[in-house]
Amino acid sequence: MKIAIAGSGAMGSRFGFMLHQAGNDVILIDKWDAHIQAIRENGLQVQYNGTEQTAHIPIYYPNEVKDQVDVIFMFTKAMFLGDMLEDIQPIIGEQTQVVCLLNGIGHETVMKEYVPLENMLIGVTIWTAGLNGPGQIELEGTGSTEIQNFIPGGEEKAKEIVAVLKDAGLNGIYSENVKFSIWRKACVNGALNATCSLLDSTLGEMFETEQAVSIVERIVKEFVEVAKEQDVELDFEETVEYIVSAGKELGHHYPSMHQDLIQHHRLTEIDYINGAVARLANEYGFEAPTNALITEFVHAKEQILKVK
Ligand code: NAD
Repeated sequence: MKIAIAGSGAMGSRFGFMLHQAGNDVILIDKWDAHIQAIRENGLQVQYNGTEQTAHIPIYYPNEVKDQVDVIFMFTKAMFLGDMLEDIQPIIGEQTQVVCLLNGIGHETVMKEYVPLENMLIGVTIWTAGLNGPGQIELEGTGSTEIQNFIPGGEEKAKEIVAVLKDAGLNGIYSENVKFSIWRKACVNGALNATCSLLDSTLGEMFETEQAVSIVERIVKEFVEVAKEQDVELDFEETVEYIVSAGKELGHHYPSMHQDLIQHHRLTEIDYINGAVARLANEYGFEAPTNALITEFVHAKEQILKVK
């Protein structure tokens, strides 16, 4: 299968690497000069569950790709999804399936502008990946990837992609209700990511405070209310319980937004997590004040840290 990875940072490189190892015809697409140069010169250097591997996968700038592909996995950060889709129009053919696995809510609104509905797939992955530098990634742990066709009729093609993910060890799952999984992951991220970033704390440190559970409850309550408007039934009690126990279990861990914002001074995906809940609540005629305030705090912190 001819596969393009659109956005080949940490996660894109994980998917690109594992799909390439499984024998697919993979190309990486990115615009980060040093990363592209390193991969062209030395291959993608992968620390893979304690082993060192090198994969020679072609990598291109978006304006260099011309040939249509069977499947595209989108792996930019959320705020760059539209730019990437705009730039890779030449490789999106009539049959090209485009799979969005970004964290956050509402990416279908952007996708629809560039991809016919019948070729759109949305999903969620709980794999992780880290970048050690240009051309160097570190992959540990395990995960899975749930996907579903955006509109009815695309089940067969979605299941073909699931099979390709399974063959590559990416534990593909065909979901009958991927919207639920997307919302649930966004809710978990929404309760923990911005909070630990603003507190400048690990999950463990956050849950040692007297306020942690009440903060989580306020955030989750608004997610549940807005999700309901989208016909997604998140269970308040179960979700809070899950978040509190996951937070305690991963005590020493800094969530990815902390790594992006506080450690590396990078832009966050807050507008697609807590910000999306606040925005959608307004569209439905009510307020999500906790998520709105958190979004403002994170944007203020981005400015203080002069993020790029
Ligand atoms: P990343 O910043 O490491 O990679 C994104 C890549 O996209 C970068 O290399 C960047 O240069 C490239 N890019 C952005 N806009 C571009 C454009 N217009 N043209 C070409 N290249 C462009 O981010 P990541 O950690 O791989 O995350 C990608 C998505 O996956 C995010 O939505 C993130 O929340 C989600 N995610 C990440 C992890 C993780 O462990 N890293 C886990 C689950 C989900």
